[in-house]
Amino acid sequence: MAAAKHITRQANNLIGGKWVRARTRHTFEDRNPANAGDLVGVFPASGAHDVADAVAAAKEAFQSWRLVPAPKRAEILFRAGELLTARKEQYARDMTREMGKVLIESRSDVQEAIDTAFYMAGEGRRLFGQTTPSELPNKFAMSVRAPVGVCGMITPWNFPMAIPSWKLFPALVCGNTCVIKPAEDTPLSALHLVETLIDAGLPKGVVNIVFGFGPEAGAPLVEHPDVTAISFTGSSEVGRWVGQTAAACMKPCSLEMGGKNAMIVMEDANLELAVEGALWGAFGTTGQRCTATSRILLHKKIARPFTQQLVERAGRLRVGDGLKKDVQMGPQVNEQQIETSRRYVEIALWEGATLLTGGKRLQGKAHAPGCFFAPTILSGVLPTMRIAQEEVFGPVVTLLQFDSLEQAIEIANSVSYGLSASIYTRDVNRGYQAMRDLETGIVYINAPTIGAEVHLPFGGVKQTGNGHREGGIGALDFYTTWKSVYVDYSDRLQRAQID
Ligand code: NAD
Repeated sequence: MAAAKHITRQANNLIGGKWVRARTRHTFEDRNPANAGDLVGVFPASGAHDVADAVAAAKEAFQSWRLVPAPKRAEILFRAGELLTARKEQYARDMTREMGKVLIESRSDVQEAIDTAFYMAGEGRRLFGQTTPSELPNKFAMSVRAPVGVCGMITPWNFPMAIPSWKLFPALVCGNTCVIKPAEDTPLSALHLVETLIDAGLPKGVVNIVFGFGPEAGAPLVEHPDVTAISFTGSSEVGRWVGQTAAACMKPCSLEMGGKNAMIVMEDANLELAVEGALWGAFGTTGQRCTATSRILLHKKIARPFTQQLVERAGRLRVGDGLKKDVQMGPQVNEQQIETSRRYVEIALWEGATLLTGGKRLQGKAHAPGCFFAPTILSGVLPTMRIAQEEVFGPVVTLLQFDSLEQAIEIANSVSYGLSASIYTRDVNRGYQAMRDLETGIVYINAPTIGAEVHLPFGGVKQTGNGHREGGIGALDFYTTWKSVYVDYSDRLQRAQID
């Protein structure tokens, strides 16, 4: 495995079944955030003409792919799931090298793609519609799912294989063709996923991948008139533009965006369990999950012992190269993210918060070549502070205090995001009350805010999303359109609402 570390992948776009250079002839580098000297790959920096070629290929392929029976389409997904299982270890290692998260988490990212492949392969023999009685005699009524056409997909770097799989697999089983533009920080993991689909037997042109930066390669995908639906996961800032542009083109658009997720710890909670959950929720994936626990709301009665334990455990977390066995937290993905964490700590201190641990870049010998930021805990945080309202997307967690469950829920809901929330309590009544009143798309009881399973809907409310869901059967609703079919076998004109 050690030798693989030094391989630099030279990749091209996949358009209409051919691996081609970008028409721009420009490229960009994919570097290891734990070690800037390690060049993981060189990828095409594509432009609008490359996107147009990919869309044309997808449009052509749609005419035959939509007619392939869904169970046959599903067989390809099933084979992709098997191939991913066989390749899991190598893909996970490459993912850690590419974006930094520790190896067990990269394995789980690939596993999520495997789970999605098998789950969506099962849908090939379901894709249920409805039959319903007609109001007229000798008439049959049903609704069936139809594919939407060419789907454009734009994905972020933090789940570089799982998130593309959440989009590609449901879209494909429904009979759509796809053009995907993955994040510029993690092109290799998306490439691995697409290569797996090709190896599994996907016909040419059904999936096309165009690498490059957002404004040059992402924007033309959103704007292209032959892209019939857009699925975007990323920041709220970019998502807002994607949503507005898609709306102006009258195309369906699914947006999955940021979060500012709260964990509530009641006075009757199992404190050890809650501390364990907080560490995982706040510092797993270096805090770079949309569901990361970024606000911990503590009942005043347990605030002190919880804080002591959390600070002590966070200070002991081993931060380093995610490929190393004993490392518990990897680097941030790039210099820009480090700068964001640093800036938010500065803002929090200026607002009056207290820094309990971390708050700075790690620059010792082991950390110097990478983007390492210390696990950071801030206390004395008030709900209205920017640090309690805005997404940091780094290993920075805030501690707030409350007196009652009602107040905790009010604080939890007082942000513009609505992705995930959790509560630690041994009181079943309070657990159910929180489940009902937390304004988020995901609620955990006695678990941290992270850790979705692929067969349940994933997404949020408020500024986190625009009402669609990934995962579960909800994903099928985005990648299909309903067609209502009436079959009149009465042999005479029957008029609805009249006869
Ligand atoms: P980002 O918005 O910067 O980039 C996301 C993608 O959009 C990338 O592929 C990027 O190249 C592309 N992009 C950038 N500008 C564009 C433009 N003008 N037109 C079209 N495409 C453009 O986000 P990021 O930094 O990659 O990811 C982090 C964000 O993603 C966080 O806010 C996080 O919460 C969010 N996220 C949300 C979910 C979810 O399901 N809710 C999951 C993971 C990440």
